[in-house]
Amino acid sequence: MSKHFKQDWTPRQDSKENPARRNQTRRAFLALSAGALVALGVGAALAQTPSKNDAASTNGGTLGNDNAAKTPAAPDAPNDPRAAQLAVDPNAQTEWNYKNNGEKIVYLTFDDGPSKNTQRVLDILDQYGAKATFFVVGHDPDHYDMIKKAYDDGNTIGLHSFTHDYAQVYSSEDAYFNDLDQIAQVVSDQIGYVPYLVRFPGGSSNTISEKYCSGIMDVLVNDVPARGYQYYDWNASSGDGATCSTDQVIQNSCAYDNYPNIILLCHDAATKDTTVEALPKIIEHYQALGYQFQAIDRTTMVPHHKVAN
Ligand SMILES: [Zn+2]
Repeated sequence: MSKHFKQDWTPRQDSKENPARRNQTRRAFLALSAGALVALGVGAALAQTPSKNDAASTNGGTLGNDNAAKTPAAPDAPNDPRAAQLAVDPNAQTEWNYKNNGEKIVYLTFDDGPSKNTQRVLDILDQYGAKATFFVVGHDPDHYDMIKKAYDDGNTIGLHSFTHDYAQVYSSEDAYFNDLDQIAQVVSDQIGYVPYLVRFPGGSSNTISEKYCSGIMDVLVNDVPARGYQYYDWNASSGDGATCSTDQVIQNSCAYDNYPNIILLCHDAATKDTTVEALPKIIEHYQALGYQFQAIDRTTMVPHHKVAN
């Protein structure tokens, strides 16, 4: 599983050409202008204008709606220093890069929660002094409070999908962003702001989306960053997307000793008991090698897979 994955782990060489970068100079100018207007008491609402224009101009006008404007650029949690850093902000984009920082760090990423398993994951993280990143979905309203709990423990929250229904999410660009807005609302209700971190269902290299909308990933990998989000794929996999024994999850996850920065794909959905059972051994393996377990932030490497649809 992990071997197969490594072959797929191909950095996108064309990402530097994304529209966000092309518009950087103009955005910087507009941000300065907006800042000056705010200083003059004109109001912060104007600061959202560039992102809206960019979103419309970079995809043939098919996104001529107000999705970008709906995304709050200013955090609702003024007393939370992490909000200032992690809130989505079209004027403070995190650029794609796959350069590791030379330190031994594991970034555990848990997709498809919160669920009945999330508390178990948090307990293990706490036991080992480890932090992680949770890319959440909207399946289980009974456990939405775990999003806040995970965040309050020092973990990072990212957006995965509200429905995680490929047929729906990847039926069109509008459908994708409508779904993203829904999970953004769930997260915002829990932590007070919309985080900039996104993980595509199936990753950016998924081919299943082709069944529903040919070429949609090519479009989304530009439009998501243009709205101030950044998407994170992974450079290591626990293999737990498939049914996996505890030992298999451990074996898959512990195969990356030669990577300085490991962004490990895991799941904390209700069915992923073996992942929870494997977690202590995975953490012990890497801690013994001198790795730290940190939550993703804007300084973390940003792995992008090669788009295949
Ligand atoms: Zn998922």
